[in-house]
Amino acid sequence: MAKLPNKSKKQKERALELYNELLEYYPDPRCELDHRNPFELLIATILSAQCTDVRVNKVTPDLFEAYPTPEAMAKADLEDLEELIRSTGFYRNKAKSLKESSNIIVDEFDGEVPQTMKELLTLRGAARKTANVVLGNAFGKNEGVVVDTHVKRLSNRFGLTKEKKNTNKIEKDLMALFPRETWTDVSHLFIHHGRNACKARISEPPDHPICIKYGKKCECWKMRGQADAEK
Ligand code: SF4
Repeated sequence: MAKLPNKSKKQKERALELYNELLEYYPDPRCELDHRNPFELLIATILSAQCTDVRVNKVTPDLFEAYPTPEAMAKADLEDLEELIRSTGFYRNKAKSLKESSNIIVDEFDGEVPQTMKELLTLRGAARKTANVVLGNAFGKNEGVVVDTHVKRLSNRFGLTKEKKNTNKIEKDLMALFPRETWTDVSHLFIHHGRNACKARISEPPDHPICIKYGKKCECWKMRGQADAEK
């Protein structure tokens, strides 16, 4: 990834403080896609595009029973694959990605999911976000920060980025603010807090201790009122 933006010491300290406090409330940050190995995580992540983790977790047990390895999935009948993953949406395209990625893993990588960003990006249906999920959660490599819809929203609300849309720019801001060893967990923590308290639609700031403290610094301070923000 290209050069990261400059961040002040104060900005980095605030980010680390936020990270440590999130960790207190969500002490077990983890990927919520069920998987037993890197291949299963890769496939589950491809399926999770435009779909909830809960829905993906309902589909993958039968899928992995039918096709437990890249070799088996590479040989799958496309229509059978489509049927198994239909409820995750965009199933035709996803079925092609599953089969083609499995083929590439077998042909180019000796049947093993590759462990570098460059190689993962050669798989069909795997963009930087998918690669970050696999590298961080299957291989323990902090190459970047996964920016999904929750991370995008919370990064803006917490005032960690000014970028509203471009996930690559948001990722760079987060990489510049948080220490590298925290990158995988930063996105898990944001996702946990996003599901728990900082939901997409909020009519008033939640009572969560993080919100009460950071509501003075993030978007909710406007709701809490200027006077309260200055206490
Ligand atoms: S205070 Fe508001 S913007 Fe900040 S984390 Fe809580 S819900 Fe999100």
